[in-house]
Amino acid sequence: MQPTPPTPLVNLYDLPRAALGELLAGWGYSAYHRDLLWEALYRQQVESFDALTGLRPDLVQALREHTRLERPTTHHEVFSSDGFTRKLLLRMRDGQTVETVLMRFKDRATVCLSTQAGCAMGCVFCATGQMGFVRHLTPGEIVGQVLHVTRILRETNESLRNVVLMGMGEPLHNYEATMEAVDILVERSGLALAPRFITLSTVGVVPGIRRLADEDRPVQLAVSLHGATEAERGALVPAARKWPLTELMDACRYYSEKRKRRIFYEWALIAGQNDTPEQAHALGQLLQGMDAHVNVIPLNPTVGYAQRPSGPDAVRAFQDILAGYGLPSTVRQRRGIDIDAGCGQLKAAVERPRRAPQPTAS
Ligand code: SAH
Ligand code: SF4
Repeated sequence: MQPTPPTPLVNLYDLPRAALGELLAGWGYSAYHRDLLWEALYRQQVESFDALTGLRPDLVQALREHTRLERPTTHHEVFSSDGFTRKLLLRMRDGQTVETVLMRFKDRATVCLSTQAGCAMGCVFCATGQMGFVRHLTPGEIVGQVLHVTRILRETNESLRNVVLMGMGEPLHNYEATMEAVDILVERSGLALAPRFITLSTVGVVPGIRRLADEDRPVQLAVSLHGATEAERGALVPAARKWPLTELMDACRYYSEKRKRRIFYEWALIAGQNDTPEQAHALGQLLQGMDAHVNVIPLNPTVGYAQRPSGPDAVRAFQDILAGYGLPSTVRQRRGIDIDAGCGQLKAAVERPRRAPQPTAS
């Protein structure tokens, strides 16, 4: 007879505070014990059961038997030449690797998190899209990326301020896990990240945007547009066939009206493709009168897409046209371009090496 496969133990990092409380309550422990454990996990950031010294030994024993404390491990790591960007390829329990990028600015640090291994949306210019979808990440795998970088920052007494859900994957395609991770990150007695410093970027998953509006999740919303007509957007973002621009903009208006929050719109500027005056005017008309801010990002070239980024003159001309419609915009240079710090690019370089990856730093 085949032995029954063991039930996989729950990873404590997968559990929002309420769920952790329920688990402990089921074993007869009060909210007081849940709070001690929560603080150990997210304030002290203990990494093993042995380090849970402030908890009752019988509770620690139960945790050992029924749970695991599992964080991603470093698979590969590179530093940008400017010294401010550190890009990690982190390995999950099943061997899947995802990218996490730590960017240090003068007085603050930002982490860019992945929400999926691969992505099902297939944007033509995106290294992750070119790989296809592998699987969703769990809340603990998303939170684990944050704990990985806070451990790094603690070495130099720095703290994390901004979180951007802009790494590999489409967060609104993995809605539940992403939101549970956000709940864990903002929990005041733990990591206590400020909701206004968490930005979720979506390719435009219409039902997800509406749900986000209805649930009042405490995040900033960024919508990746890249095209202001159905034809242009559809050529770059296959998901636009499922959620056309008209439906997307309706959802964005719904979100803005309900939440009274500005939406950021992202636009990867591709030379001769979507940086034309026609597209700039179409974008101006599309967003005119809305509480909107456009982030233009000159394309980060990828192996699977032959186009080039727009030059500085084209970028300026594009922004000038938007300004004519009263639309503010910012150019976001992708930092750490020399270390493939675009979404999915390090993984692509490590696993399909055309450009030699730099050696692992730790
Ligand atoms: N899936 C989500 C979030 C991850 S991608 C989304 O698409 O919004 C984060 C941002 O990086 C998106 O705006 C995406 O369009 C952009 N991006 C991906 N590949 C890029 C590239 N090669 N050059 C410039 N921007 C890119
Ligand atoms: Fe997925 Fe975003 Fe890349 Fe598009 S840009 S393939 S949605 S990760």
